[in-house]
Amino acid sequence: MITIKKTPESVLVFLAGFACGVILAGAIVYGLIGPRRPASRAAPPSDRELIAPYYQPADLYKQVKSASVSAKMRIPVIMYHYVEYVKDRNDLIRKNLDVTPDRFEKELNALKAARFQTYFVKDIPDILNGSIQYEASRSAVLTFDDGYDDFYTVVFPLLKKYQVKATVYLIADFIGRPGFMNASQISQLVDSDLVEVGSHTLNHLYLKAVPPPIAEKEIVQSKKTLEQRFHITVKTFAYPYGAFNDAVEAMVKDASYSAAVSVMPGVLQAQSDRFHLYRIRPGRFSDKTIVSALEGMK
Ligand SMILES: [Zn+2]
Repeated sequence: MITIKKTPESVLVFLAGFACGVILAGAIVYGLIGPRRPASRAAPPSDRELIAPYYQPADLYKQVKSASVSAKMRIPVIMYHYVEYVKDRNDLIRKNLDVTPDRFEKELNALKAARFQTYFVKDIPDILNGSIQYEASRSAVLTFDDGYDDFYTVVFPLLKKYQVKATVYLIADFIGRPGFMNASQISQLVDSDLVEVGSHTLNHLYLKAVPPPIAEKEIVQSKKTLEQRFHITVKTFAYPYGAFNDAVEAMVKDASYSAAVSVMPGVLQAQSDRFHLYRIRPGRFSDKTIVSALEGMK
């Protein structure tokens, strides 16, 4: 059996050891439950702590996101109607919207010579989000409203000759009527891969003025009709007369289109303007070549 001799030295060592233990335990308990000091004073602040009081990471993300949604890109969308020699000299509306075939061919020639790339309207959302490579100074989007037969007889052969893409907006219930393309002509456009078919409603109504259920039918049913008839997905829409308001724009969005074109003039497009993209009229090129006119537009 081991006995500890109770000499005065061993009592002192024992007491000193006990006191140290009590102080250490007290310090631990104080550290756990004692008053807290701000962490930033205890250690140099990390990046997160420097940002935290003012901007939560979620706020930063929101700011970046909203900046990119409204960021503008230069994407000129040209709006053609007729490409023909107008026979009736008194048809001023038609003359006003007209581009002669030889001027149109000169424009395509100039675009090709300047190495312009052409895109469909359905490409614009992907150009804006960066998933399609795009050179802003050498690009254009050609659009043709209404689906007149001159698109098939005059424009389409030139698109093939110059390998230029175009988007044509069809009025679904006008297909095959006198002056408009028929179904077999439209099928050839679809097969060429040079033409995007978009919707321009069923009956070319002024959507702002008609009752909402009628407007909705024009927007929704025209897409379905074109898709079923030509075995395609119709992704973009053109407002007849360029007429739209918030309610009409929401209907287009709800009908699962990915973009829509207006007749508001401009070349700077943004994700936030996807359902009322800006377009320019070819009439603005009359005194210049199309290339120098596009280069000069802001
Ligand atoms: Zn139209």
